[in-house]
Amino acid sequence: MKKTVLVSGGAGFIGSHVTVELIEAGYDVVVADNFSNCDHTCFEGVKKITGREDIPLVEMDFCDAAAVKKIFRDYPIDAVIHFAAYKAVGESVEKPLMYYKNNLLSFMNVLEAAQEKGNFNVLFSSSATVYGEPDKVPVTEKTPRKPAISPYGNTKTMCEDILQDTVKASHGSVKGILLRYFNPIGAHPSALIGELPRGVPNNLVPFITQTAIGKRECLSIFGDDYPTPDGTGLRDFIDVVDLAKAHVFAVTRMLEGKMKKDCEIFNIGTGTPLSVMELVKAFEKVNGVKVNYRIAPRRPGDIIAIWADPTLANEEMGWKATRSIEETLAAAWAWEKHLAGK
Ligand code: UDP
Repeated sequence: MKKTVLVSGGAGFIGSHVTVELIEAGYDVVVADNFSNCDHTCFEGVKKITGREDIPLVEMDFCDAAAVKKIFRDYPIDAVIHFAAYKAVGESVEKPLMYYKNNLLSFMNVLEAAQEKGNFNVLFSSSATVYGEPDKVPVTEKTPRKPAISPYGNTKTMCEDILQDTVKASHGSVKGILLRYFNPIGAHPSALIGELPRGVPNNLVPFITQTAIGKRECLSIFGDDYPTPDGTGLRDFIDVVDLAKAHVFAVTRMLEGKMKKDCEIFNIGTGTPLSVMELVKAFEKVNGVKVNYRIAPRRPGDIIAIWADPTLANEEMGWKATRSIEETLAAAWAWEKHLAGK
């Protein structure tokens, strides 16, 4: 029988790509979203890409415990992938309570419903932010976590702990996987779904594409005096489609009973570092466009260099990033042009 996966925050950037990959892998998907940080563009795109008009969409807030219980009753859900969360680092410093309340409560409601249902699988979207500025790169899953710099980062660390404690207390009834994402970028090759930041983008690639298309005047490169080969920050940029596929591997692993522990952790990255400057240059080269940029002061709270050791995900889950940075940056540009109607 077909298995059903609930994707909370499934209309957003990563959630919509995951929904596509799950459907293409043969899963039934229930998408739930409160549309607080996205519109219906990506959900419509998902329907076009998959050719499926019948994907259930539930407009709901995961902070509403009754609504969470209801969706668990209404659909025969076998696993949940939890994305529904706020994600702007700067905003979380300004409004910590908003972040703690939303990100923790929504996840606890999911876990409560999972616990009640029993024999349930929960996949949580965590982040490399839990490693802070690592003492050694690349980071493995055993690299110690560091105290979070922002309330946003802290919600990731706290949700990891909440899941691990819940799994432990459930004695096998609730199983969990934590995927720690590095820097997800790009868009679906169809250019029908992608990142849709509201207002001025915080992240590098949307800022690059918006500058290239003329929506922004100039990209600020935050710091060129870091102790790295070219002075700019080093990151592990992971294609969002590759990242989405990692979720399919993880969910399948859970549903097929292949987990080695009741709660597992995987780094989801390429394993290859790229500097901010290298990324800008690669974008210009592959797309044949100029990106107007200037060197600006360092951004407070930025990590100097972090990239993944993805060996565990490669060997244990059988997942590996396959898309080249050129393909990824071409897809990001195609998506920006699609948005501009070009
Ligand atoms: N960055 C930049 N200009 C921008 C946005 C980001 O130079 O407008 C740099 C940032 O300082 C960091 C890298 O790009 O070194 C990735 O930043 P992003 O916000 O995309 O992700 P993070 O690694 O902070 O989660």
